[in-house]
Amino acid sequence: MLKIVLATRNPGKIAEMQSILSNSDIKGEVEIETLLSYPDLPEITEDGATFPENALKKAVTVARLTGHFAIADDSGLEVDALGGAPGVHSARFAGKGARDQENIKKLLMLLQGVPQEERTARFVCVIALASPDGEVRLVEGECRGYITTEERGTSGFGYDPLFIVPEYGKTFAELGGDIKNKISHRAIAIGKLYNLLKKLTNINPPPPPLIKGGKGGFKL
Ligand code: IMP
Repeated sequence: MLKIVLATRNPGKIAEMQSILSNSDIKGEVEIETLLSYPDLPEITEDGATFPENALKKAVTVARLTGHFAIADDSGLEVDALGGAPGVHSARFAGKGARDQENIKKLLMLLQGVPQEERTARFVCVIALASPDGEVRLVEGECRGYITTEERGTSGFGYDPLFIVPEYGKTFAELGGDIKNKISHRAIAIGKLYNLLKKLTNINPPPPPLIKGGKGGFKL
């Protein structure tokens, strides 16, 4: 069975990946662990200038230290009128530790007076898969839309209440999880990752780990 470590401690991301893989036909061939099983692993800072840089750094580090395949992601919102901002700074747009509401307020303020046709934006999600011997693959998902002038809807997180999906004329926060999770940047990237994992299920066993751990994973 192929063991893969998810380079995250975020319960939402863990649950999302678990749910996607357990409904798939690679169920039974992949065992997923998370960083919760490796408490001694150092914190990895996301200091890259791009989504791929951040995702690669996390995946490569975790694969090297654990001796298993590792998956890491980075995502965010790019607004055309702001030259791609907030981009890799999406989580901390209004400052370190900023809450969603503060980031939303800052974005709306910066876009004040910008007409609708210039409020185009995209959500991006990059997922990196790294092998213990340093081989890497990247997949990317994007979802294009535009930014509203006021918050709409209550579901989701982050910039969801501001991001209109043109096909529906609704924000992610109005659409809700059932639809969002089929069309989002993350859903698209995870779909591509799934195809990669299907190919990987008959690769050679990885080299021995550099760091001990491995308790508390889940078999699919
Ligand atoms: P990360 O991939 O967890 O580092 O996400 C970075 C930030 O991008 C989040 O904190 C959100 O502000 C924003 N973001 C990423 N994906 C979404 C999404 O699906 N909806 C709303 N905001 C998102």
